Amino acid sequence: MFDTHCHLTGDRYKDGIDSVLDRARQAGLSGMIAVAIDLSDALEAQSLAEQHPDVWFTAGVHPSEAGREHDLSSMGTLAHHPRCVAWGEMGLDGHWPDPPMERQCSLLEQQLDVVVNSTQHKLPVVLHSRKAVDDVLGMLVSAGLPGDRCIFHCFTEGPEAVERVLATGAAVSFTGVVTYRNAADVALASDRVPLERLMVETDSPYLTPEPHRGIRPNEPAQVVHIADFLAARRGMSREEFEAATDATASRIFGLHQTQ
Ligand SMILES: [Zn+2]
Repeated sequence: MFDTHCHLTGDRYKDGIDSVLDRARQAGLSGMIAVAIDLSDALEAQSLAEQHPDVWFTAGVHPSEAGREHDLSSMGTLAHHPRCVAWGEMGLDGHWPDPPMERQCSLLEQQLDVVVNSTQHKLPVVLHSRKAVDDVLGMLVSAGLPGDRCIFHCFTEGPEAVERVLATGAAVSFTGVVTYRNAADVALASDRVPLERLMVETDSPYLTPEPHRGIRPNEPAQVVHIADFLAARRGMSREEFEAATDATASRIFGLHQTQ
């Protein structure tokens, strides 16, 4: 089982990252992708990945950081590191008024420009898209980035939106949100995603899945509850579901190549 998207850097975990990683391994996880929210965070995630063979990292700037200036010149260097498995996370967040959408769009546009002009032709792009699916899809088209290189992470929209995403060839990953009783639409969306394009993630330290929703911080070990939930919806055993989604994550992020 992989946690394909978590935030492991900084002082998010009071009892230390080693305990978090130990609990993940005890829960049966074979790997975690430490997703960066900006480029200094990516460096920190890189050093974590250098110390732990079951941690990989990504390079990019989250839309919540669009209020600041970012020097994107190191993005390409980070992406060439052997343990960097994706660009991102990058995207648009229409939930909060701040940072303003124009700034988010401009930051996303600049990053997509780096991606399409990089010689790292195979690295996928982890997209953050909240209440902004159609805007993100439009920007991918403008940038000339094919949908089949993209992962719509933490999918929180309904079945119609997921169909528009799937039509581009993109993959979709689900967090603990899919297990929430008030997110029936997200669960319905998950049913539409073929296993070869479906992944699970915790987005730790946020979004703890049921049955532990109230517990914070969330951590990678909890990804098993998301897998159990989705496996049950599909009438699959956890083992079958794990094998299928692990194969998807390995293929999309090239995890086997860097181990
Ligand atoms: Zn994230």
